[in-house]
Amino acid sequence: MRQRIAVVGGGPAGLTFARVMHRHGHPVTVLERDPAPDARPPGGALDLHEGMGQRALEKAGLLAEFEALSRPEGQAMRILDIDGTVLRDWKPDPGERSNPEIDRGQLRDLLLGPLDVQWGRAVTEVVPGSPALVRFSDGRQETFDLVVGADGAWSRVRRALSPVTPHYTGVTAVETSVDDVDSRRPDLARLIGDGSMAVYGVNRGLVAQRNSGGHVKVYVQVRVPPEWHTEVDPADVAAVRSQVLGLFDGWSAPVLDLLRLGDAFAYRPLYVLPVSHTWDHVPGVTLLGDAAHLMPPLGVGANLAMLEGAELAESVAAADDLDEAVRAFEERMWARARGWAEMTAAGLERLVSPDPAQALALFDEVQ
Ligand SMILES: Cc1cc2nc3c(=O)[nH]c(=O)nc-3n(C[C@H](O)[C@H](O)[C@H](O)COP(=O)(O)OP(=O)(O)OC[C@H]3O[C@@H](n4cnc5c(N)ncnc54)[C@H](O)[C@@H]3O)c2cc1C
Repeated sequence: MRQRIAVVGGGPAGLTFARVMHRHGHPVTVLERDPAPDARPPGGALDLHEGMGQRALEKAGLLAEFEALSRPEGQAMRILDIDGTVLRDWKPDPGERSNPEIDRGQLRDLLLGPLDVQWGRAVTEVVPGSPALVRFSDGRQETFDLVVGADGAWSRVRRALSPVTPHYTGVTAVETSVDDVDSRRPDLARLIGDGSMAVYGVNRGLVAQRNSGGHVKVYVQVRVPPEWHTEVDPADVAAVRSQVLGLFDGWSAPVLDLLRLGDAFAYRPLYVLPVSHTWDHVPGVTLLGDAAHLMPPLGVGANLAMLEGAELAESVAAADDLDEAVRAFEERMWARARGWAEMTAAGLERLVSPDPAQALALFDEVQ
């Protein structure tokens, strides 16, 4: 294969695409805006599903390494009532490996392996054509036969294909974390267990997720107007903490302690693309992952992004006609993503809803 291929974005989608291409002997150019792999905190752990993220890793030849790193015990899930009563307590069976957890940083490093990523290369625009032109924030430009946009929710590559932009779901997440939970607060460590613990109230919820090394990610989700997070200065940790604690007045003390222990908070208003987002095929440019189908964070986005990355790479590596391979891939991606987008949109409505029983019912259906 002589075509020059670039992937914009070194997240789960872009790195999986590049790694599977590498396995097939076709190196691609990986263009990543971040200046270094650890320039930003990597975010919470991901559970990789057997038929999705794990399948992608198999296609990349990385399943055995994933199995060594991942935490099957992280599949445990406990739901509490706001007064602290345990409502559900699911534990994985011995040997259960359908959704083991892995820290995002570990997954990134696993995928990076031998890849030669160009860090600090922010793409500003892609102009379709034969070849397609890529413009960078430093004023440079380069051409490629295929540009794969794996640049996430606010994709610059997407603008070359679609005028659509993400819209607010009505729900904002606030993320914080607690280090060394086992030694600092064994009571909280026991409450969270080996996996995740969640509590749902009226139009709000809180999830604590164990990562490796005693690190716990705490996610608040609340139904608020989009400007809610601008009411306090995000750098004023005490003000943010008090705003967030105010959402959980009357909830049990351990749940509130998870927020009191957090020493940095990040607001994440949740945006999505329309469930049926597609575009007219344009030779030389395509999209993967969140750039193509941003959906609520209900445990699917990274899995889908990785599976698409692996599948596109396999199709492209085997293709006689590059453009036909990309066109056929897009049709398959749209059909599958639409189903997940509908399901996760409905799921978010039930998780963060006026009736907390809806959240419990959703878990009963999926566990
Ligand atoms: C709180 C939260 C929890 C989640 N939990 C889960 C989960 O448990 N399981 C799951 O499957 N999914 C989960 N998701 C969803 C998942 O994180 C995303 O779907 C997934 O990261 C999408 O991967 P991606 O590679 O498409 O995009 P991203 O991960 O967003 O990666 C895009 C990359 O492109 C780079 N980039 C952006 N713009 C440019 C540019 N202009 N030029 C160059 N590079 C650029 C970015 O720096 C980034 O590295 C969660 C999401 C959130 C917010």
